[in-house]
Amino acid sequence: MDFPLTVHAIVRRARSLHFAREVVSRLPDGSVGRTTYGAVVERAERLTVALGSIGIAPGDRVATFGWNHAEHLEAYLGVPSCGAVLHTLNVRLHPDELAYIANHAGDRAAIVDASLLPQFEAFRARTPIEHVIVVGGEAPAGMLAYEELLAASDPALFVEVELDEQSAASCCYTSGTTGMPKGVLYSHRCLALHALSVSTVDSLAVAQRETVLPVVPMFHVNAWGLPYAAAMTGAKLVLPASRLDAASLLELIVTEQVTLAAGVPTVFLPILEALDAAPGRHDVSALHTVVIGGAAAPRALIEGFDRHGVQVLHAWGMTEMAPIGTVGRVPAELAGAPYETQLSARAKQGRPVPFVEARARGDEGLVPWDGASYGELEVRGASVAAQYMGGDGAESFTADGWFRTGDVVTIDPDGTVVIQDRAKDLIKSGGEWISSVALENALMGHPAVAEAAVVAVPHERWGERPLAVVVLRDGATVTADELRAELEPRFARWWLPDEIVFADAIPKTATGKFRKTALRDLHRRG
Ligand code: AMP
Repeated sequence: MDFPLTVHAIVRRARSLHFAREVVSRLPDGSVGRTTYGAVVERAERLTVALGSIGIAPGDRVATFGWNHAEHLEAYLGVPSCGAVLHTLNVRLHPDELAYIANHAGDRAAIVDASLLPQFEAFRARTPIEHVIVVGGEAPAGMLAYEELLAASDPALFVEVELDEQSAASCCYTSGTTGMPKGVLYSHRCLALHALSVSTVDSLAVAQRETVLPVVPMFHVNAWGLPYAAAMTGAKLVLPASRLDAASLLELIVTEQVTLAAGVPTVFLPILEALDAAPGRHDVSALHTVVIGGAAAPRALIEGFDRHGVQVLHAWGMTEMAPIGTVGRVPAELAGAPYETQLSARAKQGRPVPFVEARARGDEGLVPWDGASYGELEVRGASVAAQYMGGDGAESFTADGWFRTGDVVTIDPDGTVVIQDRAKDLIKSGGEWISSVALENALMGHPAVAEAAVVAVPHERWGERPLAVVVLRDGATVTADELRAELEPRFARWWLPDEIVFADAIPKTATGKFRKTALRDLHRRG
């Protein structure tokens, strides 16, 4: 049969099979709220009807600006169900970036957490957003209250609009190496196949018996596909809202008996510290797996969770891939291998998930899968973007239809991918991108600065942090503090370089570009 792979199919499954399974959310007062997939689906259908009643039509963009909670799940299901495109805005971005992104996407409506209204108001006036729907609180004048909107909408009016599985269901923006963020659209088919693929046993193994805690925000690439996979399989879902500190997360893990949690290394390092500090104090016996991705999982983190009987599963992915690309399971051939050997295998990024293919290209063409030859990773597959929105970044796609990831890798003979370096000029701090080029341009805009290069330096807690190297103009003087003050109003606080150092010159390539590898080497050598 020609059975369309759409969010409708996931919603129908959740309604008819998993209606009694729980969805638990952390509430603003710190308590937890409980609902079920049955109730979530009913409310998602009301949302679909309500969006139609305010004039949202198929193809329109509906933004969300919120943390992980049941209402966000309702938007994940209800927005694509009316043929509109769910656009998850990243609440950690600077207002200027958010204004650009909401304009570029052409967002017509936004569903906003009441607690985030001040941040939302900082860019809303510069966007085409006509309707603002407020979740979890009163709606100020001119905005709509989510609960009132749902109460007033008649679920009997819900009809499953016919959807082409190739039409867009959601979208997300990723940091541009130069210039502004780039948009990626996910089709219904992509989301459905991705949910199926992350539920396979060799992938993340999301299943009905699991209790899944996506610590990864729902504004990061479909929360790694976990909300759709959980609704499809009937896994109990636990959503932490904005409380991402170790104590709050551990409390949820223990009381809700979480079995599978997922997020960037930065959130799980403090959890490991808390477990190590008081062994036996937190009963994490239900938790069997923590999926770590977004940045490399440090070996010590994998070893550390092993001590508490929790398996770290290392995954690599990208916004352009919906996002899961590879998962680091120990291959069957190493099943009986010593612990250290298995540990080394698990620290790698792993093998491609179903319907994703990988290869690597060096200066002289595709490199052999010998575990030693470096090349830029190229991918293609059912959940890989064919282009960026609006034709941006066309150079990221090869003539024969592969996507160039900007990650430098080796590939083992069995297809295991190991990320060795990054070709793209970006810094990833705590799972969020910082554009070195944007910081450099701002620094070089200062009259005392002749040249400025910003590089990523390793950081125990955040993975990477920006370091700025500045060359002053002849005779000019300026202090690091003065330069930081110059950057402050223009960038999010966490973008500001931890250190600004002054140098006589910045090493350059033959073509005159900053040799950032040389700067990173200098830093490594102190
Ligand atoms: P994003 O589009 O924000 O999801 O970022 C994707 C990029 O994050 C990848 O291209 C890598 O550079 C990096 N990344 C994601 N997961 C990993 C991982 N497991 N190990 C190393 N780098 C990773």
